[in-house]
Amino acid sequence: MKQTFRSIKGTFDILPDRYEIDGSVVEASAAWVELEQTIRNVLSRFLFAEIRPPMLEELAVFERGVGESTDIVSKEMFTVPRLRETYVLRPEITASVMRAYLQHRLDQRAGSQRLFYIGPCFRAERPQKGRFRQFHQFGAEFIGSSDARADAEIIAAMIAVYRALGISDGRLRLNSLGSPGARTRYKSALQAYLARYESDLSETSRQRLQSNPLRILDTKDERERKLLDEAPRLTGFLEPDDVAHFDRLTGFLDDLSIPFQIDPLLVRGLDYYSRTAFELESDELGAQSALAGGGRYDGLAEVLGSSVPVPGVGFAAGIERLFLALQSRGAHMAAQAKPDVFLVALGSTAERWSVRHAQELRDAHLSVAFDTLGRSMKAQMKEANRLGAAMAVIVGEQELETRTALVRDMRVGEQTSVPFDQLQDYVTRRIREGSSA
Ligand code: AMP
Repeated sequence: MKQTFRSIKGTFDILPDRYEIDGSVVEASAAWVELEQTIRNVLSRFLFAEIRPPMLEELAVFERGVGESTDIVSKEMFTVPRLRETYVLRPEITASVMRAYLQHRLDQRAGSQRLFYIGPCFRAERPQKGRFRQFHQFGAEFIGSSDARADAEIIAAMIAVYRALGISDGRLRLNSLGSPGARTRYKSALQAYLARYESDLSETSRQRLQSNPLRILDTKDERERKLLDEAPRLTGFLEPDDVAHFDRLTGFLDDLSIPFQIDPLLVRGLDYYSRTAFELESDELGAQSALAGGGRYDGLAEVLGSSVPVPGVGFAAGIERLFLALQSRGAHMAAQAKPDVFLVALGSTAERWSVRHAQELRDAHLSVAFDTLGRSMKAQMKEANRLGAAMAVIVGEQELETRTALVRDMRVGEQTSVPFDQLQDYVTRRIREGSSA
């Protein structure tokens, strides 16, 4: 038997029509395009400009940028060995954006930079509903301002994208991780507290106790959550400037009528955050409830080699999760485009005619399809119907002789003869008038 191939587990094809795979519905490519267009429209109202970094980066960009002790870097990266170097398929895009920002000296441009991206990311996680190995993110980064207004802009832009798509009930959880000094002091206090209960901790948490104790705050383990009830809170360790920044941000969110919950246990899985951290969740997503997340990363530029600190704040959102949320509320999503015109040609002279006329009609901005399988008139009409064509233009020997085509408005079932030289005007007018014509 011949060898056949399937897409790698946790990856999927986006096809002209929607389909189901492993319990997930993959939307049609037209729905992806429409969604991306909405994202672009909304983010450009906030003056975010698109950046498209490469999908391959040096390993160190993420080792340093995201943090070696994080799950993403320690367990989930797809590495690509190449001669003496190791590249990785990006697991997220913020570190790439900052790498590009520093490489191209965007800091030397006037003022702050507002950038957004849309594209695939790669993580070697166990595939399940809402969790893939190649998935897509969109996000925005506001680089160069440490003001809480930048944090508010990022959150407002994120919320605006979901609102534009009819999702306005996401739960926004918000926390301040403080500045590095506050976090170091808190880390020690948390370590000291949890060390007393080390034997009650899970294997993973015991490891994290040394490497990254803040991540234990994320635990789903009921027993550990109980322990955390009594644990010291990061809030108590914040410096006055951290508190002032957070108060200003929450004030702006109130002014913008963006509801949020303060969650002192929210830490996020990436190392580079400082001060603001947030996550947007939806109840419709099941176990993978995070639609988007983000925060401030004032230390990122320096770990990526900048000699001066560069403040920044951003969000990253999953497109597959967004589709899941839309699907669960039965949203109508764009499907494959239907032809304006299907040319039905009978005989070789008519076939030549149809190839040429297809071009003329397309030059007049109509979408045109025709048969290439030499099918019967009946089969060609059936195909026009299947494709949802608005009009069928039928040409055979007789029509060529009289230089008139038979034009059928498929939407209302009306048929009429139209001279060739009036065909384009006639069809264009009918299409513009819509099916009520
Ligand atoms: P993170 O940077 O891990 O918070 O990811 C940002 C967003 O990307 C999440 O809130 C999810 O919506 C989405 N996301 C992360 N990992 C995956 C994955 N493996 N599959 C699908 N979506 C993901």
